[in-house]
Amino acid sequence: MNRAITINVEADLIAARGARNAVDPHVPYAFLVEPEYSSSGRVEDVATIFLTNRECPFKCVYCDLWKNTTPARVSAGAIPGQIDYALARLPPARHIKLYNSGNFFDPQAIPPEDFPAIAARVQAFETVIVENHPRLCGPACLGFRNLLPPTCAFDVALGLETAHAEVLARLNKQMTLDDFRRAADGLRRCGMGVRAFILLKPPYMEDSVCVEWAVRSLEFAFDAGAECCVLIPTRGGNGYLDQLQRAGEFAPPTLTALEQALDAGLQMGRGRVFADLWNIEQLAACRQCGPPRAARLNAMNLGQCVLPPEITCCP
Ligand code: SF4
Repeated sequence: MNRAITINVEADLIAARGARNAVDPHVPYAFLVEPEYSSSGRVEDVATIFLTNRECPFKCVYCDLWKNTTPARVSAGAIPGQIDYALARLPPARHIKLYNSGNFFDPQAIPPEDFPAIAARVQAFETVIVENHPRLCGPACLGFRNLLPPTCAFDVALGLETAHAEVLARLNKQMTLDDFRRAADGLRRCGMGVRAFILLKPPYMEDSVCVEWAVRSLEFAFDAGAECCVLIPTRGGNGYLDQLQRAGEFAPPTLTALEQALDAGLQMGRGRVFADLWNIEQLAACRQCGPPRAARLNAMNLGQCVLPPEITCCP
């Protein structure tokens, strides 16, 4: 990793940003329950708590998660308190995602002294899922896993982003494909599950190859041991991507590309594949064909099978 390039990109990224949103370190910035096709083959409710904590130290060029973070480490006890706050307001669910706009095993984000209290709050769930950078996977993952009862599965979601090595190097993810393989392998060997996040059409990738590379990235993730992959249409709005868009180095993917990537991913039959439908209205903006196409993607997420295509009048 070339540190000088990283520092230059980071300075540009920060300069291009707008302001953070106002967040409260004692309240998660969002929480919800939604259905998901589970590893058991049933559609089951999953609670997701979006924890408020310090910003991720990696500064990927496409990331906008810093918007709902704090500039400083939250105090010990704040994260368990946030979980209590959300669980008191959410309906029951079988599984839980603790997503923190960064890395669960970054000690500046989630204070490790809170791990026992966090584990105590989620021990009744069948699956606990956290997100983490591949380079931050290590003994702490197993340490947290061992705080959970054996009946509780523990999955770590890793950002692969793309298997295109040259594009990955330009994303400032500060990770190689080998780092991803190593992290996934280590987690699997210790009995933990692996999910992978894959960007559909990251910056620096041509439109004509974005579906092909999404599919190759799915194959890479499954080969590395992922059991579940999420296709995320790259979205602008973090300041830097908007600059890249003006320079012709980024444009969001089309809805057609997302449909093609999900179709191909499901046809692989290697594991669960989901299309991230957060903000799908932006891609499915056409009043005529947008809503039925978005509904088809949602039904495919929940059924894990390819459905007949909807009639389309735009890309
Ligand atoms: S590692 Fe994840 S949270 Fe951190 S900057 Fe990159 S995408 Fe954002």
